[in-house]
Amino acid sequence: MTTEKDLSKHPCFNRESAGTCGRVHLPIAPKCNIMCNFCNRKYDCVSESRPGVTSAVLSPAQALLYMDKVLEKEPRITVVGIAGPGDPLANPETIETIALLKDKYPHLLFCLSTNGLALPAHAKTLAELGVTHVTVTVNAVDPKIGAKVYSWARDGKVILRGEAAAALLLSRQLEGIKILKEHDVIVKSNTIVIPGVNDHHVLEVSKTLSELGVDIQNIMPIFPVADTPFADVPAPTHELIHNLREKAKDVVPQMTHCKRCRADAVGLLGKDLSGEMAGILGDCAK
Ligand code: SF4
Ligand code: SF4
Repeated sequence: MTTEKDLSKHPCFNRESAGTCGRVHLPIAPKCNIMCNFCNRKYDCVSESRPGVTSAVLSPAQALLYMDKVLEKEPRITVVGIAGPGDPLANPETIETIALLKDKYPHLLFCLSTNGLALPAHAKTLAELGVTHVTVTVNAVDPKIGAKVYSWARDGKVILRGEAAAALLLSRQLEGIKILKEHDVIVKSNTIVIPGVNDHHVLEVSKTLSELGVDIQNIMPIFPVADTPFADVPAPTHELIHNLREKAKDVVPQMTHCKRCRADAVGLLGKDLSGEMAGILGDCAK
């Protein structure tokens, strides 16, 4: 029997609930299956996070223990999200963790973020497990542009590069989002704006997302990270991001309150407790 959940209690998808409903990111997914040119693996997945190493990586059993302590500290948590530090769907521990948690905490909303490469293989399972919200990062809908954003993608034992990698990733993202929407999962797409690479292309991405039925788009500025091909890209101006969101909002609803949280974020969006919880997270990881 499935428990009826109040889908409005996700502070990222519903701004009105941000003051009363919190989220926790469980850092259980260290591996990734693609290489984004803005990512430095020493840091969290910037698809969904600002740079900053997660203070620990948990196993599924440790995540369950940590969750008990999180809810003791902050009972207003309504959402469990898995956002890295790598790609959740490149780590089998993600499915295992959600399955464990949903039995113990059936009232919580479950959420994850992904680059989408492994999404078609997992979308139906996620829906069946009760994952209500999924974020898919879509930075380009043209493989020529995507080839500048991604250096490679690993599909099983095969590694693709350049346009072939970008084309495969795009096809998986499109197929995966379609399956999620067929199963009534709420879908957000992050689009990271990289000046000179995809800034002129963002509206094309928005149109494709709209056609797929994506519920909300989160247009985010690249955060240039040291030791990456995009380390020296100029950070997009506030005006550029604002203008893109203004144009895109006629095509697909826009998120404007994202905090670019760490892969181990916890608390209300405006009152992050990850610093206070770092010791407990570390203890659970031992
Ligand atoms: Fe890094 Fe995330 Fe891209 Fe993987 S999907 S390379 S973890 S930014
Ligand atoms: Fe919400 Fe953005 Fe934080 Fe993800 S990174 S939990 S979308 S505010």
